[in-house]
Amino acid sequence: MIFDHIHNAFLYEAMHPLFAKAFDYLRSTDFERMENGKYEIDGDNLSAIINRYTTEPADMRQWEAHRTYIDIQYMVTGEENMGVAPLHTMKISKPYDNENDYFLLNGEGVEQTVKPGFFTIFFPTDVHKPNLIASSANTILKVVLKVKMETSKALQLCFASNNKYKLDEIRLLLSDDRIQLNTMQDLGVYDELSETGDTLEYNAWQKANHLYVYHGFNAFADDTGLEVEALGGRPGVHSARYAGEKAVSQENVKKLLQNMQGVTQRRARFRTVICLILNAAEYRFEGQVDGVIAETPRGEGGFGYDSVFIPNGETRTFAEMSTAEKNTISHRKRAIEKMVSFLKEEFLKGEPYYEKD
Ligand code: IMP
Repeated sequence: MIFDHIHNAFLYEAMHPLFAKAFDYLRSTDFERMENGKYEIDGDNLSAIINRYTTEPADMRQWEAHRTYIDIQYMVTGEENMGVAPLHTMKISKPYDNENDYFLLNGEGVEQTVKPGFFTIFFPTDVHKPNLIASSANTILKVVLKVKMETSKALQLCFASNNKYKLDEIRLLLSDDRIQLNTMQDLGVYDELSETGDTLEYNAWQKANHLYVYHGFNAFADDTGLEVEALGGRPGVHSARYAGEKAVSQENVKKLLQNMQGVTQRRARFRTVICLILNAAEYRFEGQVDGVIAETPRGEGGFGYDSVFIPNGETRTFAEMSTAEKNTISHRKRAIEKMVSFLKEEFLKGEPYYEKD
């Protein structure tokens, strides 16, 4: 959030191509002569909402945030308090409304008193609660300028994971100017994503769906399991928690080898399921790699169960290969490749793709 007097507005003009025009409008318009309502300044890129109202107690108002538009809130007459809080500390109470560009949140913030001539700028990561009583209830004339965020023309996709290893792998495979891969952090999303299903398919859907429903992002998520034939497909969807809720990889591997003691049929596969939610439609992509479980852990590379998985046609475990080598055959790579070719061939159809304005 920025809070300053209109006299200093020039300091912020470099932050957005429309800020200079927005501040000029604030400096040069006689708002007291204008009716309440919405006024276009630059198509749907920049508009002004003029409003007269009475300030209210904080518990009568809700925390809100936007994704597509930046708010510049300029006080013409009267004074009010504006609450502000960083997005990552708040919990969403009403999911993102794509049509009206807002979502509601619960949490705690701080308040700033705003008097005539002063303005605030709320960026999409600034949760705000304006219109609050300052020293006493007040009749306000306020202008809210809506400035459209600069959006890239590429198709925006959010990957529902903070796993850096996976991100690097996916970034490499997805490199295409028409697709912009965003991390949750890039988009200011700090939610814990639940994986409570009994299948990889459900878990992948659950994570992507959260980003689509709560935040309005086209998103994809993956879930991976090691499926061992002699164990009836276990650990499968429970691979991460095989040896207990907080188990680390070595404990999971240890439990797996214990359960495989004396078992000669050691066939297994890694299976990755990706769920992509694009403009409300759901797509699923699957990749798998077949192999066997080694008798003992071998190799220093990779992560998870890599030290005990020998892919078919190999004598080495995944952990004995370089990351680049593993990535040429990995289950995740195969699933991602399917998604990427779907996006390029079916969705983007080889043409430059532009999101609808
Ligand atoms: P996730 O779905 O990627 O979170 O993975 C679930 C579990 O499978 C975790 O225990 C991971 O360590 C393990 N896992 C996922 N991918 C791989 C892999 O490529 N090699 C080894 N283990 C993996």
